[in-house]
Amino acid sequence: HGEVDFKEEAKFAQHLKENEAVSDFAKSKSISQQRQYLPIYSVREDLLQVIRENQVVIVVGETGSGKTTQLTQYLHEDGYTTNGIVGCTQPRRVAAMSVAKRVSEEMETKLGDKVGYAIRFEDVTSSSTVIKYMTDGVLLRETLKDSDLDKYHVVVMDEAHERSLSTDVLFGILKKVVAKRWDLKLIVTSATLNAQKFSNFFGSVPIFHIPGRTFPVNILYSKTPCEDYVEAAVKQAMTIHIASPPGDILIFMTGQDEIEASCYALSERMEQLTSSTTKAVPKLSILPIYSQLPADLQAKIFQKAEDGARKCIVATNIAETSLTVDGIYYVIDTGYGKMKVYNPRMGMDALQVFPVSRAAADQRAGRAGRTGPGTCYRLYTESAYQNEMLATPVPEIQRTNLGNIVLLLKSLKVENLLDFDFMDPPPQENILNSMYQLWVLGALNNVGGLTEIGWKMVEFPLDPPLAKMLLMGEELECINEVLTVVSMLSVPSVFFRPKDRAEESDAAREKFFVPESDHLTLLNVYQQWKANQYRGDWCNDHFLQVKGLRKAREVRSQLLDILTTLKIPLTSCGMDWDVVRKAICSAYFHNSARLKGVGEYVNCRNGMPCHLHPSSALYGLGYTPDYVVYHELVLTAKEYMQCVTAVEPQWLAELGPMFFSIKESDTSMLEHKKRQKEEKTAMEEEMENLRKEQAVSDKA
Ligand code: ADP
Ligand code: MG
Repeated sequence: HGEVDFKEEAKFAQHLKENEAVSDFAKSKSISQQRQYLPIYSVREDLLQVIRENQVVIVVGETGSGKTTQLTQYLHEDGYTTNGIVGCTQPRRVAAMSVAKRVSEEMETKLGDKVGYAIRFEDVTSSSTVIKYMTDGVLLRETLKDSDLDKYHVVVMDEAHERSLSTDVLFGILKKVVAKRWDLKLIVTSATLNAQKFSNFFGSVPIFHIPGRTFPVNILYSKTPCEDYVEAAVKQAMTIHIASPPGDILIFMTGQDEIEASCYALSERMEQLTSSTTKAVPKLSILPIYSQLPADLQAKIFQKAEDGARKCIVATNIAETSLTVDGIYYVIDTGYGKMKVYNPRMGMDALQVFPVSRAAADQRAGRAGRTGPGTCYRLYTESAYQNEMLATPVPEIQRTNLGNIVLLLKSLKVENLLDFDFMDPPPQENILNSMYQLWVLGALNNVGGLTEIGWKMVEFPLDPPLAKMLLMGEELECINEVLTVVSMLSVPSVFFRPKDRAEESDAAREKFFVPESDHLTLLNVYQQWKANQYRGDWCNDHFLQVKGLRKAREVRSQLLDILTTLKIPLTSCGMDWDVVRKAICSAYFHNSARLKGVGEYVNCRNGMPCHLHPSSALYGLGYTPDYVVYHELVLTAKEYMQCVTAVEPQWLAELGPMFFSIKESDTSMLEHKKRQKEEKTAMEEEMENLRKEQAVSDKA
């Protein structure tokens, strides 16, 4: 496509001249001038008027038009925070933090003062907070304590088009709250997608359009399907950097590993280039962004690159709509993204790489046309775009494990989930299977009601298995240890493994290994850190991420607060860690596996093959016990078990008798399977009966 490029460059050069004023704008103009330049500003009055006149409004606008950062401030300026506060939900943690920071700067207040944010295990708000950004999951949990959300005067459900699980559930809950509380305003913002559907759901409420201001984007497809999109993306970025006019680059990858690999490859190529020529090579500033990246590094993507370097941002789909970076002229789209998908037949969630939808691909391309006309390089063929990609993404609620949601709705007295007002109901099979899993964990009784343990589990902002592990720690009197394990599992990996010091860091990690368990290895790391006065330099010496450990410590103290409220005493088993393994075992029946071949396991329930990950303590020490449980399965080159613990088969039989009996002969195995199936069918029948009764009583 040489010719296309050439024309594109000429257009681009001309455009650059015209737009110098625009690009200088951010540098030279005050924040208030920047605010007035946003598309939403031109319709500020009309928008506020529509909100005054309607209880629920859908707001539609291109990404970058100012919905997230401006709307909350307009509401504040229009007096909505004199009684109650303005809450704004985000499907992603990174967005909640980053946007709150930006808005606090715009309002010239300290973050956590007038403007704050709350994400799971991190609440940066205070009594003076009037604009609160939070993940949708946080607001959903708030409905548990305050079912009418009384402290809010306005709730903005931002990025609703993402259709995250919590947003979808909130839709159903808020629809009821809005009917009850006439003083509550609800604003739902969305990219163009889905707006009509949202409006219909709330009873044909008005849709307000913010006029767009975007430039054309030239889309170039790959001629042939690409084998290795990381390599292809790196190559494309280098070509752009060397041969194309100024303008920043945005690459879409699926996750942290790929992002790190691409950044590494890019910096390597830049080094090679610099050393192989005497000519001055223009600088390239390589910036990763993904949800687990520390906040200070995340903020870097918004900063101007030093002395005219070109920025190359390598992102997950976080940069699709949640975060807007100005100055992008080139987008490289791999066409893939990671999605959590629940397989009800196997009863498990797996993070898997999928082709994105056409709507998502178009959003990605649009990122190149925010500052001027841009170019999007799609690393897939036009035919793949037309024929293989779905038109729109499948809402999360239809593809994930609903364990948490079922637990939460049950505690909100939604007895019959099949009747909940979902915009798009989840497949019945998913609901029933999630209920089944909760029943196995002991959270639901035989008729689908919450058990005592179930009620306790709801109190913890944790996935049901982890909540169960914690409560089992109570029973087995080792809650102090289990608390640490659960906290460590709730933060990103604390092991630091720089590419250029891989061997050294692996050796450091091995020193912490507890032979039979990755969970206990985590416990060991934490306890040693504690024994060394929680020191940062000690972490550095041992290739541990001090930030991650500090976060775990924070999570731990918050979970401890909840335990204290529930009057659960902190018991300890000292160094007798076998009992901790038993508690761990009780949480993961669905993730138990049995040794089949050399280093090869199969899931006890469904026979799925699964493998020890090379980073596992068990793998490292060459220890292959007959039975293990694992935290999650990650599908990459192979099905890898992430975080593994060896268990005794009799624990499985003792703690999960509905699943397992020891030393089964073939016939008893069959028998066992049959019984298992019968139990499940019985449970489903109960559910069905319950549903019928409900329907009858609803009519009466
Ligand atoms: P929308 O929600 O409609 O996509 P936003 O309100 O997020 O739009 O963004 C409006 C503008 O604010 C954009 O031009 C964006 O670049 C800028 N912006 C948002 N967050 C930050 C930040 N953390 N730092 C600098 N600029 C930001
Ligand atoms: Mg936004």
